[in-house]
Amino acid sequence: MDRAIGDGDHVTNLLRGLEALTKQNDELIQLDWSAAFMKMGMTLMSTMGGASGSLLGSMFVSMGKAAKDPDMDLTAVSTIYSAGVESIKARGKADIGEKTMLDTLIPVMQSLQSDAEQNADKATVLSNMKTAATQGMQSTKDMLATKGRASFLGERARGHIDAGARTSQLILCVIADELSK
Ligand code: ADP
Ligand code: MG
Ligand code: MG
Repeated sequence: MDRAIGDGDHVTNLLRGLEALTKQNDELIQLDWSAAFMKMGMTLMSTMGGASGSLLGSMFVSMGKAAKDPDMDLTAVSTIYSAGVESIKARGKADIGEKTMLDTLIPVMQSLQSDAEQNADKATVLSNMKTAATQGMQSTKDMLATKGRASFLGERARGHIDAGARTSQLILCVIADELSK
């Protein structure tokens, strides 16, 4: 996807970051949530490269700052995740509708916030999260890009799903599937 409307390196960038995180697994599981998110953010920033590396890195650092309570109930998850998404919006100077990863991340944030308010049960939360991520990812297909490399292409970017929206959706859906086991 990044080859179609970007420079073709998004998956390589992401895999480099994920490989570095995998190597730190033993260390990460010893840490509390805050320290673990911080460390993950620093690692993503220093290994991934690309726009996505600094954006996802800052997301995790901000989640680390927001994670205070060791209790990970739905309200805490929603608050922490929202802090991460807000930091991407601020750092990327972007919002929903600009054909980026935010088109996946923001609908999931809204879904978590409303499910936390309504005290939804776990199965509902996870299913809503997957629906929001998938619809958000698909919504990028018909969009014009106004941020990132695809913005240079104008109308030619239409008809292509954004790579960052797709990888964000895959990650969120895997997390939902793992949590529902
Ligand atoms: P690069 O564009 O530097 O090659 P990647 O290919 O790894 O970096 O990541 C590109 C992805 O980053 C895009 O598909 C888009 O989802 C996301 N992106 C780019 N710019 C922004 C931005 N300003 N705000 C949010 N996301 C962005
Ligand atoms: Mg790229
Ligand atoms: Mg690049």
